[in-house]
Amino acid sequence: MDLRNGFDIKRYIRTIPDYPKPGIMFRDITTLLSNLYGFRAAVDELAWPFLKTGVDYVAGIEARGFILGGAVAHTLGLGFIPIRKKGKLPSKVIGQDYALEYGVDTIEMHADAIAKGDRVLLVDDLIATGGTAGAAIDLIRKSGGDVVAAAFVIDLPELGGAEKLKAKGVKVHTLVGFEGH
Ligand code: AMP
Repeated sequence: MDLRNGFDIKRYIRTIPDYPKPGIMFRDITTLLSNLYGFRAAVDELAWPFLKTGVDYVAGIEARGFILGGAVAHTLGLGFIPIRKKGKLPSKVIGQDYALEYGVDTIEMHADAIAKGDRVLLVDDLIATGGTAGAAIDLIRKSGGDVVAAAFVIDLPELGGAEKLKAKGVKVHTLVGFEGH
């Protein structure tokens, strides 16, 4: 099933070489989001496999996962749960550490956001090593949630993140792939 109707999502993603540091090819989705057709095509394509699949919530990872995840939740007629950087959420939180290239980072979610058995779709803009999404999956599972799938606009397959999530038993849905880092 192809709902893209010829719209080339990949063409609207801008690549910025050596940002934020030398060697990184930054895949910039702001040029996709600002195009009215691009934003709609991306959100529709992220959402359609999950229409009528019994998902309870969409969870998005700060910050680009909020823009896409919020729109996907609205499209599916569901509520949205933010997964944020440490210290940003006002009520009681649960946290999950994950490894960065140098050091450790933490993401958090409200402790009462998800109840046992809730079915959650995770959304972010891009999957690279899978460290961030993997931590978000652990966080959702910690609160008893069931991660139905993880959906991303961009996959960087050479970094192995999608495979890592599949090894955790999570279905992965991506729209476009880029070679390299
Ligand atoms: P990872 O945890 O390695 O899968 O990295 C995924 C997170 O880092 C996502 O939230 C992305 O927004 C961001 N990210 C990683 N690599 C890139 C890249 N090449 N271009 C844009 N964003 C990236």
